[in-house]
Amino acid sequence: MASHAILSPSSAERWINCPGSLYATKDLPDVNTSYAKEGTTAHALAEFCLKFNKKAIDSLGKLMTPNGIYVDDEMAEAVQEYVDNVNGIKASMSDLLIVDIEQKLDFTDILNIEYVKDTLPADADKPAAFGTADAIIVGDGELQIHDLKYGKGVQVYAEDNKQLMIYALAAYQYYSLCCDITKVSMHIHQPRLYHHSEYSVTPDELLAFGEKLKEKAIKAYTVYLNGPTNDDDFCAGESQCRFCKAAGNCEALAKHVTATIGADFDVINDVGDVVIDSVTFDAPEDVAIKFSALNTIKSWITAVETRVNSLLQQGQKVPGYKLVIGRQGNRAWRDVEGAENALKTFKLKEDERYTKKLISPTQALKLLKDSPKRIAKLEGFITRPEGKPTVVPESDKRPAINIADDFNDLTQEEEN
Ligand code: SF4
Repeated sequence: MASHAILSPSSAERWINCPGSLYATKDLPDVNTSYAKEGTTAHALAEFCLKFNKKAIDSLGKLMTPNGIYVDDEMAEAVQEYVDNVNGIKASMSDLLIVDIEQKLDFTDILNIEYVKDTLPADADKPAAFGTADAIIVGDGELQIHDLKYGKGVQVYAEDNKQLMIYALAAYQYYSLCCDITKVSMHIHQPRLYHHSEYSVTPDELLAFGEKLKEKAIKAYTVYLNGPTNDDDFCAGESQCRFCKAAGNCEALAKHVTATIGADFDVINDVGDVVIDSVTFDAPEDVAIKFSALNTIKSWITAVETRVNSLLQQGQKVPGYKLVIGRQGNRAWRDVEGAENALKTFKLKEDERYTKKLISPTQALKLLKDSPKRIAKLEGFITRPEGKPTVVPESDKRPAINIADDFNDLTQEEEN
């Protein structure tokens, strides 16, 4: 098996919605960003704590996996919250049967991609469809899939989450052989956003999802092996394009962006200026369609910037652009002790050489977390600005602001 699954659950949102994405990204290297490395370390720490009943804080400053990322305060706190949640759920079950941590799940058979294999030349790559669930718990007639998301860039929901549904499907096929399961629940733990999302289905609903998934997997895998055959093989959209490695170079996404914003611009000339012949104002329904495409457009902008940067760094020409050295970073002491001694010899007073700053409310609350009385005393000294009105999809769980009661004219307040 390849070390990375071709039909991986973590990229399922992409290959389900855009069957050509596996083909478009097949020769592109993985980018191991610092965020990805942090996630790997956080998962290794969570696995260690859950398997050996350890406290995350005891691994502070340690390297859990050889990737150069050490456990820091924020990671220890976030991972501990996830570990406490999982342990709490285990403890609340009256009939706990199974707890499997970092469980590898193979779902090649579930996706039925043998069908495609029959059409392949004998030396073709074997299909690989597997993934690793962070924690699986079976008890009280329920199968639970728990997923730790260490990132805090995008809030992730369990509802209709393809990655978790695939884990659940593979886990159900396996664990239902030995346990009675009447409910399957999927849990996303995103401790750095204080976010926990849960979604439950019946086994029948899960199996029905599996049937649809088979068709999607066969389609994506066929395009992966044989190449695209028509325009429908590529389908741009927010969820699939957001982390797609091909985004900076993808014609389908570029067309989607132009189609969405193009109606506003009569001409984009050869230096990128927008020429507008007349100004019209969209109806709310039309502007809602454009608003829904903004995240896709932002992803496309980032992907194009990354692509241009990478071409120039490889020494290739991008007409009209070049690489220069950017603004220098902030100054820092290379040798703190040496600098301290030097400043002392300059006869500067202590309060000239050092600054003293009160800790922040967040640091104080953290320090006093075991002392609710002292926290209560401190609360009166803390102020916190109100959150600003934010546009979210109607499916968001937070109640909508009652404009008539709470605000007079938000846009006016913003301007003032
Ligand atoms: S960028 Fe979007 S449309 Fe293009 S291959 Fe990736 S997922 Fe498909």
